Order: sequence, then structure tokens, then C-alpha cells
Amino acid sequence: MAKRLGHPKFTFLGLDPCAICGFEGRGFGFRLDLSGLYPHYVFCSMPCVRIGEAIAKSNGGKIEKMALSDIENHAIVDARLQLWEAAQRVGIADHIEKMSPEQIDDLVKSVVIGFQASIQRAMGRGEVPF
Ligand SMILES: [Zn+2]
Repeated sequence: MAKRLGHPKFTFLGLDPCAICGFEGRGFGFRLDLSGLYPHYVFCSMPCVRIGEAIAKSNGGKIEKMALSDIENHAIVDARLQLWEAAQRVGIADHIEKMSPEQIDDLVKSVVIGFQASIQRAMGRGEVPF
């Protein structure tokens, strides 16, 4: 069973989620030195494989759950304002008001993970996103 770093809610078609971004795995796999001594991980794209490989090589073959950096955590909190403004525009602000800060941050993280996964897939197809 693959370990995962990303958001555990992104499971489609019964495939394990990517160990890096949490989006649906696409048949990309990695195991350090192809040795049974190390865990096998699945990924959604070659960019995520490269990230996972770099982490595994520097961490004894394991890709541990990575905590968000202080900057990323701060950015998620900062994005609450944009979420609130968007919720007001579409008429769901009263629902957002009932949510805890943790639930709001989970919502923001889910959107960010989905966005990043899409960009990574585009990069995996050789497309330059920006
Ligand atoms: Zn991925």
C-alpha cells in the first residue's frame, strides 16, 4: 500500500493517490533502488516522480508526510479572505460562516492541491503552464 503525502480525499477510480500531490495516481511508480527493502510509491506524473525520488534518496528510501512550510501555512490563512469574498459573490457566505477555521483551511488546501495537480499534469505532457 502506497503512503501518501497529499490530500487523502483525492481517490478516483480506486487508484491510490499520488504520494506527492494527492491527485489520482496514473501508473507512475518508484521504489528506491528497486529494492524490496524500501516502500513502493505511486505518482500521478513524472514531475511528481522526480520530486518523490529526490525525497526518497535523501530520506533512506521513505517519503514521509511533509508538513507545510510556514510560508505555505501563512498563504492558506491569507487565502481565507479571497474564499470569503468568493463565497459572498456566489451567495454561500452564510455556509462559510458556520465552518471552523480548520474546515475553511481544508477547503483552501483542496483547491490548491487540485490546481497544482493540474499544472503538474500539464508539465508532464510537456506543456509550459505560464
Ligand atoms: Zn502528483
